[in-house]
Amino acid sequence: MSITMSRGQAYIHRLNDKRNVWLDGKRVRVTEHPAFQGTLQTIENLFDLVDDPDTRETVAYWDEHTGSYVHKAFQVPHASQDVSSRAAAFRLWSDRTYGVMSRLSDYARSRLVGWYATRQDMARHDRMYADKIEAYYQEAKRNDAFLTIVQRDPQINRSLPVGEDEDAMLRIVKTNSEGIIVRGAKMVATAAPYADDIIAYPIQRIPGHLPELAHMVIVAVGSPGLHLICRESFAAPQLDAAHPLSARYDEMDAVLFFDDVLVPWERVLLHNNPEAVWQVRCNAASSSLAYHQSIIRLHAKLEFITAVTAAIAQEIGVDSFLNVQEQLGEMISQMQTIEGLIIASEAQAQPDALGNWLPSFKYIETARNLGSRYYPRAVEILKTIAAGGLIQIPSGRFDLNETVGTLMAKYLGGVTLQAPEKIRLFQLAWDLTGSALGARHDLYERYYAGDPVRNRAGQYIQYDKESLNKKVEPWLHMK
Ligand SMILES: Cc1cc2nc3c(=O)[nH]c(=O)nc-3n(C[C@H](O)[C@H](O)[C@H](O)COP(=O)(O)OP(=O)(O)OC[C@H]3O[C@@H](n4cnc5c(N)ncnc54)[C@H](O)[C@@H]3O)c2cc1C
Repeated sequence: MSITMSRGQAYIHRLNDKRNVWLDGKRVRVTEHPAFQGTLQTIENLFDLVDDPDTRETVAYWDEHTGSYVHKAFQVPHASQDVSSRAAAFRLWSDRTYGVMSRLSDYARSRLVGWYATRQDMARHDRMYADKIEAYYQEAKRNDAFLTIVQRDPQINRSLPVGEDEDAMLRIVKTNSEGIIVRGAKMVATAAPYADDIIAYPIQRIPGHLPELAHMVIVAVGSPGLHLICRESFAAPQLDAAHPLSARYDEMDAVLFFDDVLVPWERVLLHNNPEAVWQVRCNAASSSLAYHQSIIRLHAKLEFITAVTAAIAQEIGVDSFLNVQEQLGEMISQMQTIEGLIIASEAQAQPDALGNWLPSFKYIETARNLGSRYYPRAVEILKTIAAGGLIQIPSGRFDLNETVGTLMAKYLGGVTLQAPEKIRLFQLAWDLTGSALGARHDLYERYYAGDPVRNRAGQYIQYDKESLNKKVEPWLHMK
């Protein structure tokens, strides 16, 4: 990193590579196009917290290997305090972004830490994996890399068995002395245009007879042949106060096309190896560390939406009605349930067989699975309470015309707020729940961790049913 640049500026500087980012049908430069500037500013500020004396101890740790401060998402927890200390770092980034930015790299970095910390377990599946993940972990940490992860293949025909629509699935088309050449596509990589590297592997179990689909690769976003097809931008112009969240926090999602992309051997962590890829996909350390971050962020977002809803209820004078209080109470219960599960996951952290301290996954999984229902429910409550108030927000500047401005001041105030502040409150609520960004967030919380139906079913499938049966059995033999 140049001494004249802050950590955040150095990160932005790295994005000036040859990446193929497509937006509105055109190839664009992330560092110049207006759609990305508000979010880049947010990320730059967050990255700089590592070097800010006021926040450094919370977000960063001193790393002996690199001889520098590094974000705590890269820290391998060797004691219970490390788990809490990582949590404090996640909380600070989440609070600064109100839980509205989810893939700020701390999720993907945590997955990497889990894989790195348990690398020796993989020796029986692949001899090279441990060395490669170690080298990449050190490199990512040294470079303060912004990472994201993509697993899902495009939605073409989900009724087909794995592999039958394999044309879209990432596969090796050639190998040479430099590495492998991959072709195919991946669906929805959040934050990909902002990333240094993307970690890609399949979400589903690849059958043993289709090894050609079973790879785990780390791809530099600037790789020739990699195309990032962005969805429509939800970013509002930087100074648009009507869309305060869209102006700062559109983390962008992109479909990835791999048009014969060379992945150097050192970044081919696994190839042609269905069992090893499945082990990585199900790695307990990686899931527990990464979803620990996710539920802390979820909690920040539930707190925020509850705060906005309560402010609206008070400001339109409905918070004394029993039904409104009941709904606000439900939001608080949701928020505190997730908080309680975070506390439980940290209080019951345990070392694994390799000495890595992991927050208890059963509580994390429960919080994650509740979150896919809690957040949409919170949005529903906000809309139920705010009602048509979300639509009576005037467009544009209301103070420019004297006549209309006076009438607005007279008719659009609230219980305590004057019209301008009350309008700001409703603009915030609309941006959180009704704007394109808000709609995306509702969908994100339902699906970011995969299919919520199968996630919840998975909790039942993996649960120790024997312990449940024991509760019922004595009653079956009662005379
Ligand atoms: C905004 C957003 C951002 C995301 N970001 C990322 C990211 O950065 N990285 C990443 O890896 N993932 C990300 N995801 C998650 C991922 O892209 C998928 O959305 C998720 O894995 C669910 O798969 P799907 O959308 O293909 O749904 P599908 O699997 O196609 O499911 C569609 C519907 O059909 C049902 N269904 C499908 N198959 C079955 C079956 N076999 N049995 C029963 N029911 C079935 C599902 O329950 C669902 O209702 C993101 C998702 C969203 C919405």
